[in-house]
Amino acid sequence: MSVYLDNAATSFPKPPAVAQAMLRYMTEVGASVNRGAYASALDTGMTALLLREGLCRLFRHSDPTHCILTGGNTMGLNMALRGWLRPGDHCLTSGMEHNAVMRPLRDLAEQGVAFDRVSCDAEGRLDPLDLLRLIRPNTRLVVMAHASNVGGGVQDIPAVGKICRERGIPLLLDAAQTAGHWEIDFEGWGLSALSVPGHKGLMGPSGIGALLLSPEFAGTLVPIVTGGTGSASDSERQPTCMPDRFESGTPNLPGIYGLRAAVDFILETGVETLRRREEELTSQFLAELRGVPDIRLAGPWTLENRTGVISVDFSGQDNAEAAFRLEQDYGVLTRCGLHCAPAAHKTLGTFPQGTVRFSPGWYTTAEEIAAAAAAVRETAGLVPGRSG
Ligand code: PMP
Repeated sequence: MSVYLDNAATSFPKPPAVAQAMLRYMTEVGASVNRGAYASALDTGMTALLLREGLCRLFRHSDPTHCILTGGNTMGLNMALRGWLRPGDHCLTSGMEHNAVMRPLRDLAEQGVAFDRVSCDAEGRLDPLDLLRLIRPNTRLVVMAHASNVGGGVQDIPAVGKICRERGIPLLLDAAQTAGHWEIDFEGWGLSALSVPGHKGLMGPSGIGALLLSPEFAGTLVPIVTGGTGSASDSERQPTCMPDRFESGTPNLPGIYGLRAAVDFILETGVETLRRREEELTSQFLAELRGVPDIRLAGPWTLENRTGVISVDFSGQDNAEAAFRLEQDYGVLTRCGLHCAPAAHKTLGTFPQGTVRFSPGWYTTAEEIAAAAAAVRETAGLVPGRSG
């Protein structure tokens, strides 16, 4: 028996309709999109449109043409960062970011883009007023993760959005750890760009994501990839119409079918229901971890503004060894190390040793959480702690 607690990396299992839709595409549809007028080609076009509409409903964006289908969240973030920032610009981010944001920013820094990080507290949350203090006349973008993939802390994005809106600075949100199970209000929060992966909380396949853009941001953003779009084929110039401007090349069609089925599942189930389930499982796990000696939680103990990502530092032992034991002896599947987010571990005080990360998902049961907690207790007790 295995207990899959690595949903923050990728959700598993998926709703059965996801694989069914992908199989239908591969075995019955088969056609490309925007490139033919026969029935199956229209089926792909319609599915892509329904996916955009579903994502817009989910994230409260009113224009499906501004929902770009990407090759994943990392791709979406790169498209927004590299297509927007220019030498001489200044960008603000947080001290909790994933390398999907930090590595492009480091590359851009070599080309003359400056950036600063707003520091976060020991639970990984920033004070929006600190952001205000770091704004410069040339600050051209604020980018941050909605929730940390290390500690689970959720940032106050409505407050950050308000500050950005008042200053006329676009806000790019990385919703890798919240899309699908947390409320995201693109227009209400005044976002300029929102990047999401298909394969985590949205419960779709990997290799597909979405980048939603405001009309103002889309109007200035430069596409970092250009090529065939199936539209305006008389011209060698990239079309300006949306979403074609940002969608060159034949897309991930099995992914589009799978993600459409996944988004339908999310909309039918309801974000509130998904969130409540995540909260129940998180609450149970945190309660079971309380009082366990020789472990330290990296992230908040309380449920308020936190997701179901629970990171544990096994104080007396190597975390990789603890994760190995959890798998070998108890079948508990976790992810250990630095989770592609060294900055977040520095903020939470778990660099360089990292943590063992437990992340339940929609299909995790209370029995599995109890079994994982028992495994943590036994693993923690195997060796004396650093203090003892
Ligand atoms: N940002 C955060 C906060 C993440 O957790 C992840 C995935 N671990 C990413 C970005 C990158 O997403 P993907 O690997 O799906 O492109």
